[in-house]
Amino acid sequence: MVLEKKEYRVLLYYNYVTIDNPEEFAQEHLVFCKELGLKGRILVAKEGINGTVSGTIEQTDAYIKAMKSDYRFEDMEFKIDEADEHAFKKMHVRPRKELVTLRLEDDINPRQTTGKYLDSKTFFEQMQSEDTVVIDARNDYEYELGHFRGAIKPDIETFRDLPEWIRQNKEQFADKKILTYCTGGIRCEKFSGWLLKEGFEDVAQLHGGIVTYGKDPEVKGQLWDGQCYVFDERIGVPINRVEHVIVGRDYFTNEPCERYVNCANPECNKQILCSEENEHLYMRSCSHECRTHPRNRYIAEHGLTDEEAAERLKIPVS
Ligand SMILES: [Zn+2]
Repeated sequence: MVLEKKEYRVLLYYNYVTIDNPEEFAQEHLVFCKELGLKGRILVAKEGINGTVSGTIEQTDAYIKAMKSDYRFEDMEFKIDEADEHAFKKMHVRPRKELVTLRLEDDINPRQTTGKYLDSKTFFEQMQSEDTVVIDARNDYEYELGHFRGAIKPDIETFRDLPEWIRQNKEQFADKKILTYCTGGIRCEKFSGWLLKEGFEDVAQLHGGIVTYGKDPEVKGQLWDGQCYVFDERIGVPINRVEHVIVGRDYFTNEPCERYVNCANPECNKQILCSEENEHLYMRSCSHECRTHPRNRYIAEHGLTDEEAAERLKIPVS
């Protein structure tokens, strides 16, 4: 059998390194990326760079080569996924205050303070140990599509609420070894550093994140359930190559589901997991308020008349 080689690639990368003038850097970098023909989303801050871009093998090779010729990025790791097409519609490079929003009183410089780096194999073994807790350092909608089996899901909606939640739930982790993980590793660099500063002694992070874990030839993504949420058009990517356990649940019926859609109310836009059938039944809207919103996109897309919309609204509403 001849394995067909895919023509596109998605690159995921970050580096905590000083970038003196993020605005200027972002402008020039955008021009450069467009010239190469890449598409994607790159954040630039004084503390570094964080990006996901897609392009052909030639385009992404040229990008990696160019980045590595800059001393600031010469040791930057690129996670590479093969793809059938671009994973973005446009190319954005945006200057930001922080690469990840933790809203800390005292910011953490991961180059100085960060948890121990565990490779995939060590993380796999360590997370099965009794004295260890695994904390998911991502947003709730990411966790809901997939996570490490048994990982703690902090009861927060966004990553920036994590420090406060940890403080309130300190006892849970008091004498434990703490493992943290996120998609590519960037959030854990800061979060694990913050945990150390907060007084937790044994803190480690999954080096290279979930994406790297899924590619490890020995571990093969084991103990990962569901898919890994990614911030591009793919939305989810497979991680566990031994078994696939669906953990996502349909927003309306609670049935196993891994299909994300955005609420049709443009002012809500909440991501909900739902089947195609339920998307139509509930007009892709997360609440009665969203279903009856005057600018509901589902109603516009399907050209539903007021009568037709009213007819659908008779269905049981969650
Ligand atoms: Zn909604």
